[in-house]
Amino acid sequence: MNVPFLSLKDIAGKYHDEIHEAVRRVIDSGWYLQGKENAAFEANYARYIGSGHAIGCANGLDALALILRAYMELGVMAPGDEVIVPANTYIASILSVTENNLTPVLVEPDITTYQIDGSKIEAAITSKTKAVMIVHLYGQCAYTDKIGQICKKYNLKLVEDNAQAHGCLYNGKKTGSLGDAAGHSFYPGKNLGALGDAGAVTTNDGTLADTIRTIANYGSSQKYIFNYKGRNSRLDEIQAAALDVKLKYLDEDNNLRKQIAKKYIDNIKNPNVILPAVDDWDSHVFHLFPIRTGKRDELQAYLAKRGIQTLIHYPIPPHKQECYSEWNDLSFPITEQIHREELSLPMSPMLTDEQVRFVVDTINRGDTI
Ligand SMILES: *Cc1c(COP(=O)(O)O)cnc(C)c1O
Repeated sequence: MNVPFLSLKDIAGKYHDEIHEAVRRVIDSGWYLQGKENAAFEANYARYIGSGHAIGCANGLDALALILRAYMELGVMAPGDEVIVPANTYIASILSVTENNLTPVLVEPDITTYQIDGSKIEAAITSKTKAVMIVHLYGQCAYTDKIGQICKKYNLKLVEDNAQAHGCLYNGKKTGSLGDAAGHSFYPGKNLGALGDAGAVTTNDGTLADTIRTIANYGSSQKYIFNYKGRNSRLDEIQAAALDVKLKYLDEDNNLRKQIAKKYIDNIKNPNVILPAVDDWDSHVFHLFPIRTGKRDELQAYLAKRGIQTLIHYPIPPHKQECYSEWNDLSFPITEQIHREELSLPMSPMLTDEQVRFVVDTINRGDTI
């Protein structure tokens, strides 16, 4: 049996007719940017997340970078100020900080949840700290009341990287509505994925929303009037139309992911495999299903030989990357352990029962690995 890690073709196929109809509607309309598809998706996505405003933009990295840029234009932060980020995240979270000439301060995650360790944040705060960026990594909520309280106590902005967690809940509220602003990615492989690059910012702060909208439109609030040295980062009409179709099915798709995760968790019995710790099924939408094992590379090769495709998220931590050579000598042991041991099993709403059973049985049979 063949188990691909994720088949985007299958996912698009599930909504074939509706997506084709939406894309055709845009093509035939002759209106491709800043139109009613974008406005409709922004309104529907803001309502879904439970935020006052959603601003479509070109991708998830831009969404995060635009939030920080707007805070700088509004005088909330200035070049050289510090933003606390988890040490174990996808590089884009950190790129959004350095792109704005802000300084990322890396904080270790918790080894059981893989989310930023709230008990280590306060020690990382200095007089230059202006924000905490939490990342709901792998689809699991990173927010805790403690993190919220720390941000209030030190007057820090709380920015959420919600690229991997559309639909995830914390005490009944969606991630993306828990902090001051959130960046969302609709990269095709995300839980809510476009047919190319796409992203959005959500926030309840109307001034921030207006500033982001202006910066993302060349810095122009009115045609040919330029208030900021802006950029072009917009969500095009075809992507917005396709996303609006898929948004209707996001909860259903997330529930399918959870059912698969439950089967993995209930049935994988290999003693060498550490399964994700889930104490609240609402607070995880399983963008990925990350396991850990000391024999990661052996297990990956064993599964590959049997037709099961797995991926590593991520093989090299940000502080060991060439682009951040200034950090290469720093040590983050928990982060490094996760990057050494993590393996993501196949996960998508399109996996069949037979495929899931085959993955479980194959891992259980490989108990010497
Ligand atoms: C995907 C991702 C991003 C970047 O989103 P793009 O749309 O690919 O630019 C940022 N942060 C995290 C955690 C991601 O997984």
